[in-house]
Amino acid sequence: MTGGGMAGYDYDLITIGGGSGGVRASRMSASFGARVALIEAGPLGGTCVNVGCIPKKLFSYAADYAADFNDAGGYGWSAGSAQFDWKTLLVNKDREISRLNGVYARLLQDAGVNVIAGRARVAGPHTVEVGGRTLTGKHVLVATGGHAVKPDIPGAELGITSDQAFHLDVLPLRAVLVGGGYIAVEFASIFNGLGVETTLVHRGERLLRGFDDDLGTVLAEELAQQGVTLLLNETVSALTRDGGKLQVALGSARTLETDLVMFATGRRPNVAGLGLDAAGVALAKNGAVQVDDFYCSSVPSIHAVGDVIDRVQLTPVAIAEAMALVRTLFKGEPAKLDYRNIATAVFSHPHIGTVGLTEAEARGRHAAVDVYKTRFRPLKATLSGAVGRVFMKLVVERDTDRVLGAHMVGAEAGEIIQGIAVALNCGATKAQFDATVGIHPTTAEEFVTLRA
Ligand SMILES: Cc1cc2nc3c(=O)[nH]c(=O)nc-3n(C[C@H](O)[C@H](O)[C@H](O)COP(=O)(O)OP(=O)(O)OC[C@H]3O[C@@H](n4cnc5c(N)ncnc54)[C@H](O)[C@@H]3O)c2cc1C
Repeated sequence: MTGGGMAGYDYDLITIGGGSGGVRASRMSASFGARVALIEAGPLGGTCVNVGCIPKKLFSYAADYAADFNDAGGYGWSAGSAQFDWKTLLVNKDREISRLNGVYARLLQDAGVNVIAGRARVAGPHTVEVGGRTLTGKHVLVATGGHAVKPDIPGAELGITSDQAFHLDVLPLRAVLVGGGYIAVEFASIFNGLGVETTLVHRGERLLRGFDDDLGTVLAEELAQQGVTLLLNETVSALTRDGGKLQVALGSARTLETDLVMFATGRRPNVAGLGLDAAGVALAKNGAVQVDDFYCSSVPSIHAVGDVIDRVQLTPVAIAEAMALVRTLFKGEPAKLDYRNIATAVFSHPHIGTVGLTEAEARGRHAAVDVYKTRFRPLKATLSGAVGRVFMKLVVERDTDRVLGAHMVGAEAGEIIQGIAVALNCGATKAQFDATVGIHPTTAEEFVTLRA
């Protein structure tokens, strides 16, 4: 389906947003022969590459060294006192991000995608405006992602979001994280690991809402043991500046003094100024573009994938949605995405890995559910003296013996759960887990020897 067949339009596909979803959709469409323009207002790669997954994981690696230096002593190593230099981390991180921006630009160029820098606006079902130009497309893809939102409280402007956390001139001595989701706990671990006196304020009673309850509970214990101050069932009601410091007024009427406040209090779809309303595209209350199973909006020529549809806000999901869409549009193979068993990791310290149903979800959907759990001191800790313990859990449907969920807190949990996710996707039973010979001595082997 190329050029001639779609005469009358400048492009077969105009993609708005060069992040995880938009880049993949554009590249693949072009490789299927479509004429594609991609419009990006900022650096290529979007949230994940510039202010999300990648720099976050690099910071997380940096923070994890703190524990590694401590652990090394028990194994006979001494290397003087460890020093950390924030500027070095920032410069090296920025260099890697620039390299990735270049990789994305090259991939798009090689695929034949016309990349246009600028902020796009949808002017009609087939019309997009950018920088004073008007482009027409048979299809328009909205892949504009989302942005962090701060709570509506006095002084909120004195706090930052994760966007600014990646570019702080100086590392603060003290930091307060507001929120209990994965971004809040990841940054709590990053700051704590880098030596910042860290407090996390969360209005809920448990961290990581939406994850298996045990994960939030266990992580809270581990974070507290590492010196993070956790204030659960607590809210932030106002921020005020006090010289170089910030005063954080809490709902409980206490006040915290700190040097930095970071809000990780949710994200909302990027639709402001996009003109979607006027074009007749139905939006949810929070702005999310409403799409059907094939990522088609209420306007048949306008599609959307990724964070802007607010289903599962993860890079591999945005990419999988993009792949399904372009197969539907340009290969004539209507494709949907199966959202079950999407594995995910939280790069807190320790890491979390999780896939499938939480215990609560499983109990809500199945008559009888068995739960297998273990918590133990990992072998490495025997000599290092580290106090953290590993937690593992399998949720099993009793009637069919199928493993419905696997959850872990501990080193490399994400790496371990990725393989378990394959097993769950294949419908593995607990008996099949048990019949699998373990790799000894590893942490992962506990997943095939869970008895209780
Ligand atoms: C701190 C943080 C950590 C994260 N960590 C992880 C992780 O570890 N693993 C994971 O899977 N996911 C992670 N995510 C989520 C992941 O980044 C997103 O799910 C993913 O980037 C969504 O891709 P997208 O294509 O929908 O949008 P984005 O990647 O956000 O891309 C949207 C792009 O559209 C552009 N844009 C917006 N409006 C316009 C316009 N009008 N005109 C032109 N361009 C426009 C934006 O500049 C942006 O580049 C993290 C997110 C954050 C914030």
